[in-house]
Parts: sequence; structure tokens; C-alpha cells
Amino acid sequence: MTKTFVTQPFLPPLEEFIPYLEKIWQEKWLTNNGSFHRQLESKLGDYLGVSQLSLFTNGTIALITALQALRITGEVITTPYTFVATAHSLIWNKNKPVFVDIDPKTFNIDPDKVEAAITPQTSAILAVHVYGMPCDNNRLQQIADVYGLKLIYDAAHAFGVNQQNESILNYGDLSILSFHATKVYNTFEGGAIVCKDEKLKQRIDYLKNFGFADEVTVMAAGINGKMNEFQAALGLLQLDYIDQCIASRGIIANYYRDALKEIPGLKLLPSYAQGEENYSYFPILIEAEYPLTRDELYLKLREQDIYARRYFYPLISEFPMYRGLSSADAKNLPVAKQVSEQVLCLPIYPDLSEESLLKIIKNIQTKGLS
Ligand SMILES: *Cc1c(COP(=O)(O)O)cnc(C)c1O
Repeated sequence: MTKTFVTQPFLPPLEEFIPYLEKIWQEKWLTNNGSFHRQLESKLGDYLGVSQLSLFTNGTIALITALQALRITGEVITTPYTFVATAHSLIWNKNKPVFVDIDPKTFNIDPDKVEAAITPQTSAILAVHVYGMPCDNNRLQQIADVYGLKLIYDAAHAFGVNQQNESILNYGDLSILSFHATKVYNTFEGGAIVCKDEKLKQRIDYLKNFGFADEVTVMAAGINGKMNEFQAALGLLQLDYIDQCIASRGIIANYYRDALKEIPGLKLLPSYAQGEENYSYFPILIEAEYPLTRDELYLKLREQDIYARRYFYPLISEFPMYRGLSSADAKNLPVAKQVSEQVLCLPIYPDLSEESLLKIIKNIQTKGLS
């Protein structure tokens, strides 16, 4: 573990962005597969260790397009413990979300529960690597193979996460990424679909450009999901700093771990080997033994201007557009329900100062509380 505390600016140096802007102004190629777009697709593919990558204007449109690209119909088994966009993408495709419970160790979709939820209408599994923690990918793939289902990953949290030196983005039929401002790697707004098959990438590229296969051929009712040159240029610059950003997040995560590991009633998540974690979030569980409830701690921190987040609370299955589904019943989702009521994600970002970190820790430590 690194002892030195090194912060990394939240944004790259502005002066380094100017030459990119000058080039855009000179070439006047603003979007539609420009030179920065092509460069970023290739550089990101190399960085992440994936063969086919298609950039998008955001992660949600990437998700919606991913389902279209694989022609997903009927029921899709998914998790209620994620950001709303995961399930919303199913509604936008007129698929029926079927929620199953999560694994208490990884907070990811529980493969045993997936198998039990399969019906003749099931066409796919939509899994999420929550907080960048890998799903049980081999089990999920086995189930998908046995039942002839597509396996799709919402990997919005899993930028740069590897297992045994292999990107976890290479599991399943495809994975989507988000490059939203709040994610580990951002282009302000942005996203991508990662897949292994050149023909599938071709179809995805048509779909994100209204379905145009050439000037006069429209192959499907595609959408406008294109990333523009401004976003792509920013992405290239951000890529120069991503390793340092992940490293400073790692230092902060280790600092939290050391300071919080022995506090009764606080539960930390497992840590992974170097390179197998991107430290995108720092979730803790506030259990009964802790002197405050989760919400009391959340409010206490807010009073000190510390903005911890209750990710993911409420569960997606509790929102009005989902709660009528039989799979949304809390009795079907006991683990997810409990975790969503205990979880708190602590501030973690590359320019979090040591002073702020100490203040956060001091406010969580129980000395003096009863
Ligand atoms: C951020 C996020 C998305 C949506 O990505 P956008 O780029 O904001 O559209 C989807 N799924 C998960 C799990 C996310 O965290």
C-alpha cells in the first residue's frame, strides 16, 4: 500500500485541451466519426483490452442500443440494485424487466436466483458489475448457454477492471460503459458498447446513426447515439491522466479501509488485487450495531457538508413504473432491500484532499457517540 497521499486534479489542465479545440476549429469536422472519434475508439480499445468498441453520446443510449443490436424481446432478468437507467433501458425497448435478488457478498445479481426466474419468454440476462465489482461471470455465462439467453452487462461502473489480467468487459455478448461526469473516466457525457464481433460492432454503428448503412440504405429504426468530436477530444486528453486518477482513488480507498475497518457496526466490502478494482465508489454498510442508523449518519455528514450518497436507495423495483411487477415484491428481493437500507457511499474522487478525508473519517468514527 502506498503511504503518500497524492491527489490528482479532477479535470485535466485546460491548456492541454486548447490544441484539440484548435484542430476541431481548423478541420470543421464536428461529429459523425471524425478523427478524434476514430482515435478514441482505437486508443480506448487498446487501453481497456477489448477488440470492438463503439463510442456513444451517453451510457443510457448505449444500453438501449445494445438491447436493439441483439434484438432482445420479452422478459429480461435483471437486478433492482443499480442506477435506474439499467431497468429504464428495458422499458424503452418494450422488454419486461424481471427482478431477481442480489448476492450478499458482491451486491451483484445472484446466479441461483437468475436460474429460478427463467421462463419461456426470457431472452436475456442484464447484469451489472455494481461499484465495479465483478459479477459471477462464469456462472452467468453457463446459465445463458444452457438456456440460450443473451448475456448483457451494464459495466458503467467497471471501467478498467480486470480479472486475471483480462478485462471483465470481454464477458457476455456485450458490455456498455458510461463516461458521465461522475464516473471514473469521463467525457462530461459519453458512453460505449464493447463487443467481440466485428459484424456486431458494424450493426451497432449503424444503429447509433439512425440506421444508416450507407447514404441510401437504412437498415433499422436507429437512433442518434453518436459521440461528437468535442467529447472524443476530451476523452483522449482524459485518457492521459486516467492511471493517475485511478491510483489516487486507490490511495483514498486504502485510507478509508484502514481507518474504518475496526468500527463496530460498519461493514466494508471485499478488496481486490491491484488492477482488479477501479475504486469508483466506496460503499459501506451501516449495521444495527452502529450507534446511528444509515439515514442518521447520512444527515450528520450532510450537516458537515459531506455529501455521502445512498447508492442504491430506493431499489429500482420500488419506483412507480416498476412496483406493479410481481418480481418487484420486496419479499422476492430481501438481500437487495436490506443492503439498500444500510448502504452509504462515501466521497471518493481523485482530488479529495487529505484534510477532507480526515474530516469524513472523524465524523464516522464512533468515539463519543452512544
Ligand atoms: C451512470 C450509469 C448509467 C447511465 O449512464 P449515462 O452515461 O449517465 O447515461 C447506466 N447504468 C449505471 C449502472 C450507471 O451507473
